[in-house]
Amino acid sequence: MNWEVVIGLEIHTQLSTKSKLFSGAAVGFGAEPNTQTTLVDLGMPGALPVFNKEALRMAVMFGHAINAEIGMTSVFARKNYFYPDLPKGYQTSQMDHPIVGKGYLDVMLDDGTTSRIGITRAHLEEDAGKSLHEDFQGMTGIDLNRSSTPLLEIVSEPDIRSAKEAVAYVKMIHSIVTYLGICDGNMAEGSMRCDINLSLRPKGQKEYGTRTEIKNVNSFRFIEKAIYTEIERQADILEDGGRIIQETRLYDPEKNETRSMRSKEDANDYRYFPCPDLLPVVLTQVYVDDIKASLPELPSQKAARFQSEHGLSEYDANVLSSSRAMADYFETANAVVKDPKLTANWVMGELSKLLNQEQLDIENCPVNATAFGELLVRIQDNTINGKTAKDILQAMWDGEGSADEIIEAKGLKQVTDTGAIEAMIQTILNANTAQVEQYRASDEDKRKKMIGFFVGQVMKASQGKANPGMVNPILVKMLKGE
Ligand code: ADP
Ligand code: MG
Repeated sequence: MNWEVVIGLEIHTQLSTKSKLFSGAAVGFGAEPNTQTTLVDLGMPGALPVFNKEALRMAVMFGHAINAEIGMTSVFARKNYFYPDLPKGYQTSQMDHPIVGKGYLDVMLDDGTTSRIGITRAHLEEDAGKSLHEDFQGMTGIDLNRSSTPLLEIVSEPDIRSAKEAVAYVKMIHSIVTYLGICDGNMAEGSMRCDINLSLRPKGQKEYGTRTEIKNVNSFRFIEKAIYTEIERQADILEDGGRIIQETRLYDPEKNETRSMRSKEDANDYRYFPCPDLLPVVLTQVYVDDIKASLPELPSQKAARFQSEHGLSEYDANVLSSSRAMADYFETANAVVKDPKLTANWVMGELSKLLNQEQLDIENCPVNATAFGELLVRIQDNTINGKTAKDILQAMWDGEGSADEIIEAKGLKQVTDTGAIEAMIQTILNANTAQVEQYRASDEDKRKKMIGFFVGQVMKASQGKANPGMVNPILVKMLKGE
């Protein structure tokens, strides 16, 4: 059977405000349990919430970034449910009147095609506390530090058609919220969590199939894997003539499977109603316009500028602007090098390779952007060749000093003196008389194939220091006996 996958994502992003959505308690990760709480976060009856202005500003910023209608009047609503880590018995969220309405994002895929993903809405809500099952034998601990932490829940239309597209979309949201500085983007610490709604339908069918919702997936890789396994599970059921049960599931990365958590509740099970403790939030046009005017450069704008200002290819520009830290690194290095193509190649090539190997983000790169730029300048002015530069980068990485210090200390200066190169070539020719004879007896085609051997020998003899651009022409001349 030929199935089409239909995916809609709900992404919870934690807003990086200093204090909570409805109280003055600090927001933070890793503090002693229940130390970052006020009476409001503890759910004490009669304690009144006060809405955090900064969270509002951040939500409006996001709305502008996804071309959305801004909710000029938004209303907080109570979503009622019982859970030990939710002492109030309801989560304060938004239902009928969210702060951000309909918007969209154009997402670029690996193959260079773009697809538009509709965004239904984004609403503000508070996080719940945490139940700790591991720390206490036979008991559950309740930590309310996280309660009332501000979240922006971003709900997409069911416009996504593959795992790759889902990951590209989440990466783009990640990149936007970190560019805006409204979320730290730390997925491992739960700053961005993703619920995946997924259904299958026979290709060509108009109606959507029954969906399941996989809760709280917190890495790009897990999103992709969870989608693949859930597609397979649903396809197996459907192909056996079965039916999908609408339910909430959990992804287990260790077993790479999804498991049923609970049957799906409907919105009306939550008995949403407007929160009587909070006034509707009414915005002025001036407020909304001011935020729009002060928006920082966004990833897509930066990518466009990298093409027009630095002459980079669309691909390079997109890769470099995908994270603000990477874009900043590139621009800082290039301010020293003043050769965007060379800088782009080295940031995306050798530097990214080392970062991947060490599983480091560019923010934590041991070689700073200026020092990296200074290394590239030495390639540009022919002090070193590319191969030597890789070794120097490794040495810089290991803390052995600046590029110039390492070149000096290890005597890595490229040999650009014609006489010295000629002498090295002569030694190689003397040691390989048979090959020289053969070269001289060959036609042009064969000679071109043989030249690599001699270049290799010379580079080896010079320990990689001979300037390859000079070796070639001198070698050809000397081989011909000129
Ligand atoms: P709920 O409020 O019950 O979670 P919503 O209608 O708000 O339901 O949808 C939640 C998410 O599920 C949205 O991202 C939406 O795009 C997605 N979705 C809705 N129907 C389907 C479907 N049949 N298949 C896949 N995703 C769906
Ligand atoms: Mg939902």
